Amino acid sequence: MKHCSKCGVFVAGNRSLCPLCQSPLTGEWDGEAPDFPSLPSGFPRRALALRILAFLTFASLAICAAVNFSIPEHDWWVLYVAGGLASAWILLLLFLKKMRTPLKNLIYQTGAAALLCVLWDLATGWHRWSLDLALPIVFLACMALMLAIAVIRRIPPADCLLYFGESILLGLVPAVLLLCGVIHLPLPSLICGSAAVVFLAGLVMFFWGPFWAEIRRRFHI
Ligand SMILES: [Zn+2]
Repeated sequence: MKHCSKCGVFVAGNRSLCPLCQSPLTGEWDGEAPDFPSLPSGFPRRALALRILAFLTFASLAICAAVNFSIPEHDWWVLYVAGGLASAWILLLLFLKKMRTPLKNLIYQTGAAALLCVLWDLATGWHRWSLDLALPIVFLACMALMLAIAVIRRIPPADCLLYFGESILLGLVPAVLLLCGVIHLPLPSLICGSAAVVFLAGLVMFFWGPFWAEIRRRFHI
């Protein structure tokens, strides 16, 4: 049986590193069965699906580039195709990475989507649609989805509050931009800001107990 001199434990199975401290194990493996069953590695089907998707992405991009280069009198629209595919991949990979924590995932997706909208707007001549329309819609959707996921998956209030708070802060961003005079079309930002205030009020009124306990726990009051 193998031995970890650092932890002073014997480890069954043919491991090279100690499962507790990751130090190299000494001694010989006697052929005994391991203590723990071996885990299947990752999600083989998902990995295959991602590879097929990546292949299709490159294939379609290559075809678009070939068509674009062969008819050069139009503008370089293949760059928009590349940007769109890259945006979709960023959102997809973020989604898969944080799939086990849906509320955190939603915050990441919302941040990435908002950033991509602003970048697209900047890259296509800055018509301000990202600030006037996209940000309020994305942040409003984030708050609505946040509530829906918490209710459907019955996540306890204490586990939601941090993410609820983050989505409310995001929801207030368009209203702040409106106050700063950056927004030209005020209605979507007003609706989003009002929804954030209503969400916050509802949270404080209906979940005051867990809300206050969570604030005390996080800020050590
Ligand atoms: Zn050890």
